[in-house]
Amino acid sequence: MDTLTFKTNKEELLDITAEIAETVKKSNFETGICYIYVPHTTCGLAINENADPSVKSDILGELKEMVNENYPYRHGEGNSTAHIKSILTGNSLIVFIENNNLKLGTWQGVYLCEFDGPRTRQVWIKITAG
Ligand code: ZN
Repeated sequence: MDTLTFKTNKEELLDITAEIAETVKKSNFETGICYIYVPHTTCGLAINENADPSVKSDILGELKEMVNENYPYRHGEGNSTAHIKSILTGNSLIVFIENNNLKLGTWQGVYLCEFDGPRTRQVWIKITAG
């Protein structure tokens, strides 16, 4: 397993495609499966458009609309909305490997979704043949 570390800002979709692709290259697998996992409860992972940056701000804006900040949350840390957004995005991804590279759609990138930064986050990567 490989561990990548990222410093995040308050709330952002951080494009980590290049770092994961680099890990895949080092694996020397021509074909396979890349499992991507975050061991945190207030961030997530997503694959989405990496061309128009307004897509990222639209996604963060709409997630903010979807999760009620005024709900009487009982969790004492004050970051309940981040926990809920983490569930909405999920904490793992699977990407195929072809030609020793991530097999993504033309407009797709892999994002670490930070909902409770700034933090130091780990991304765990497991690559298998297939
Ligand atoms: Zn919390």
